[in-house]
Amino acid sequence: MDFSTEITYSAEQEKFRQEVSVWLSENAQIPAEFKIPRETGDMSHELYNWVREYRKKLGAKGWLAPLWPSEYGGGGLSVDMAQVLEEELSKRKIPAIYDNRLAAPAMMVWGTEEQKQRFLPLINKGDVITWQAFTEPEVGSDAASITTSAVRDGDDFIINGTKVYIGGPFSADYIWTTAVTDQTSPRHRNLGAFYVPADLPGISFSDMELIVNVGKRFVYYDNVRVPGEYLVGGENQGWQVAQTSLEIEHGAGGSIGEGASRDGGVVAALFDYAQTAVDGAGNPLIEDPRIRDLLVEARIETHIVELIALRNYWMFNNQKRMTFHGSQNSLLRKLLAMKLGNIVLEVAGPYAMLNDSNWAPSNGVFESHQRQAITAHHPGGSSEIQKLIMARRLGLSRSKEEAAPTKVA
Ligand SMILES: Cc1cc2nc3c(=O)[nH]c(=O)nc-3n(C[C@H](O)[C@H](O)[C@H](O)COP(=O)(O)OP(=O)(O)OC[C@H]3O[C@@H](n4cnc5c(N)ncnc54)[C@H](O)[C@@H]3O)c2cc1C
Repeated sequence: MDFSTEITYSAEQEKFRQEVSVWLSENAQIPAEFKIPRETGDMSHELYNWVREYRKKLGAKGWLAPLWPSEYGGGGLSVDMAQVLEEELSKRKIPAIYDNRLAAPAMMVWGTEEQKQRFLPLINKGDVITWQAFTEPEVGSDAASITTSAVRDGDDFIINGTKVYIGGPFSADYIWTTAVTDQTSPRHRNLGAFYVPADLPGISFSDMELIVNVGKRFVYYDNVRVPGEYLVGGENQGWQVAQTSLEIEHGAGGSIGEGASRDGGVVAALFDYAQTAVDGAGNPLIEDPRIRDLLVEARIETHIVELIALRNYWMFNNQKRMTFHGSQNSLLRKLLAMKLGNIVLEVAGPYAMLNDSNWAPSNGVFESHQRQAITAHHPGGSSEIQKLIMARRLGLSRSKEEAAPTKVA
């Protein structure tokens, strides 16, 4: 058995790495005049537009969805090549924009061929921005209990209701949403899933005050006439369709490259801070064994989440049977964020709460992490919900459930 820890790449992979690297050097240089904010939601419109154009260029090469078939706007790459691509992309640290692409895997499983040909290239090439709208003012964790209604009228549906905690900055082109299509059928057999153009008459938005700048929209549907061509899956199959999106949102597909733990650079900032800051007596923090312990804990916990994400990437792309694995990824990521929040507080003390340019250490990344760790607990289902899903998949609940169907190729 070979226990070497060195990862080796084939000549073909290295050649492709070179091609990607050259392309990125030419296309991934953010103009110096744009200020890069700590948080995606605080991006200026100019930077947002630049990132959108960059993503469209990536999409044109199939590199936004490298493993997807080219007929659906993907790159048609092998996992070996996609791995190299992801590694190179993650080095560039281009800020993400809020583009919820989770309708695509659901459409791949549940959509008609016509829908796949029409919508998947738009999503996979970065030509449209989609917001996912499942949560309602009275319904979050128990997503099957929504009340937004979709009433059939000939070939169309008339949608009424309100969604909350939706989207990111600026605007969306499509909304990926759920609604009750059958008021009489039992739970899980009464919903429809719709990929709705965001500019249909009757759709409006307003903002909530949150401690982060994403997930802060209300979406209102007021007698919105949605043609039947936007219904994905059967008329009462929306619960199953949404589960495919959620399976991927939880992390069944895994990830590769730097940042798989989505720690937002806070661990690196902790190490830098401890090496430069001093305690009240003037001693470098890094000389305190307790601080060193905390730093090691932060690194180990982060590495565990990265390995789980890598395992899922491998399982997903090798079509291994997956059960609890997506929710395990989500659960550990959410718990890690909270744990790092506590470590940051212990290491930096009250400085971890500051975000002003004079006093905040590490350009305010600690303060930002405190807020984001709390809010990250919720999207896609809280950690309690991930545990529930895992229990059901492991047969520890009343029923034993399988993972929602997913596929790329
Ligand atoms: C920043 C942010 C972004 C978001 N983005 C989106 C988005 O893009 N699209 C979208 O549709 N939604 C989005 N959401 C909403 C998110 O999915 C919900 O917040 C989440 O599902 C929890 O629902 P809730 O807030 O109504 O809490 P509740 O469902 O009211 O839960 C409250 C608490 O009770 C616990 N709980 C609930 N049920 C159980 C149970 N059965 N067992 C044990 N504990 C339980 C929960 O863990 C939670 O701690 C976002 C939320 C945030 C904060």
